[in-house]
Amino acid sequence: MEKEELAPHVSEISRVLRGKVEESEIWKELDTYLNHYRVSLETAKRGIVKKFGGDPSELMRGIRKPIQQLGLNEQSVDILAKVITVNEKDIEVDGKQKSILYGIIGDDSGTIPYTAWEADRYPLRRGEVVLIRNAYTKEWGGQPQVNLGTRASVEQQPEESVKLPEGMPRAFPDAGEVKMSELQENMGGVTVTARILSLEKREVDVSGEKRIVHSGILADETGKVQFSAWYDFELKPNDLITIRGAYVRGWRGIPQLNFGERSQVTRTNIRFPSGADLAKPKTRSIGDLEKVGGGIDVLVRGTVVEVRKGSGLVFRCPECNRVVQKSSCRVHGSVQAQPDLRIKAVVDDGIATMTGVINRKLTESIMRMSLEESMRLAKEAMDPNVILEKIDERLFAQPIELEGNVTSDEYGLMMIVSSARVSVPEVRDEAGSLLNQLEESE
Ligand SMILES: [Zn+2]
Repeated sequence: MEKEELAPHVSEISRVLRGKVEESEIWKELDTYLNHYRVSLETAKRGIVKKFGGDPSELMRGIRKPIQQLGLNEQSVDILAKVITVNEKDIEVDGKQKSILYGIIGDDSGTIPYTAWEADRYPLRRGEVVLIRNAYTKEWGGQPQVNLGTRASVEQQPEESVKLPEGMPRAFPDAGEVKMSELQENMGGVTVTARILSLEKREVDVSGEKRIVHSGILADETGKVQFSAWYDFELKPNDLITIRGAYVRGWRGIPQLNFGERSQVTRTNIRFPSGADLAKPKTRSIGDLEKVGGGIDVLVRGTVVEVRKGSGLVFRCPECNRVVQKSSCRVHGSVQAQPDLRIKAVVDDGIATMTGVINRKLTESIMRMSLEESMRLAKEAMDPNVILEKIDERLFAQPIELEGNVTSDEYGLMMIVSSARVSVPEVRDEAGSLLNQLEESE
């Protein structure tokens, strides 16, 4: 094995031994184990760590993941899988011939292509079950692919430890034909028909490699979704296309459509809403958004059931924009805090709830009160909470219509509101008394 390939292992051993042993000493030991004892790298590393009183279990272990959960850029991952196919191929690297293995592995969640960069180092045999440690993934043709580099190891496992479901192999369970509003994270084998509303070409860094990606917004009559095309399909804005073999990744719950070399893109001529129609935000129920995790440019109607603490007049750190207490930022210490207005409203549409975060400009317009005016009122009352009370008075139990992007995390759904409409006061009394009744009955 080349010196530069071994270097990361030497630093790893050194790390586990807390630097107690000189790296030159580790080099010598490693050479002895590999070239005289002729043991595997993994065994050599464990042996050296043990010899110098370290704990071999601290050697880098990847995180075990089912195949379906593998992302495009995993650094160190363990996979328990059945080898479905093995092929050998000679390639040329830096003018030298070298043999690699490639094929497909699978577990009960799905299958994935792999490449093992040294044919003779990995005991990969068709039909056997193996535990692959310290593999990494890279994007290939829009899908993740498992790579076994110099840090990877392969251990044979009992055959019954992996059961492939019927009908394998397939990359992912195919979602088939779906609408924009039905897309959700980790779906694969997706077919959609949609219009390209916007498009841009970007250069991105994928595992240290520059890639050109064509990304933008796709829409159908149910909603919009961001997409990334990892191959140049010569897309143009306003094209109406059918994409087959796409898959979905999520960003903070927002589904994003990906497709690449292995996907098919065809132009179609069916009757379809115009770009202008599709550009308008689409109405979605909160329960619907909860099911798929989020969405972009959606319209939600509901009733404000709570104006959350932290609404109203707040002060922000001028450096990092965090909301601060008593002019002290927890990162930047004592600062000249800047006043701001915002509303965090919990909205309920009868099915589920979502928190809408409303910025200063919209808050000023909903409250018909400027930031300066709220500062003045707070000063008069000697209590910034008067603004929160005013917002509560204005919004509680009020029907509201919000537009924006909805994300989700362990705290639930959150919309960064880009447009808000609060209904006329008359409706309010009715909804208010309804809510009061609900509260009384609880
Ligand atoms: Zn700060």
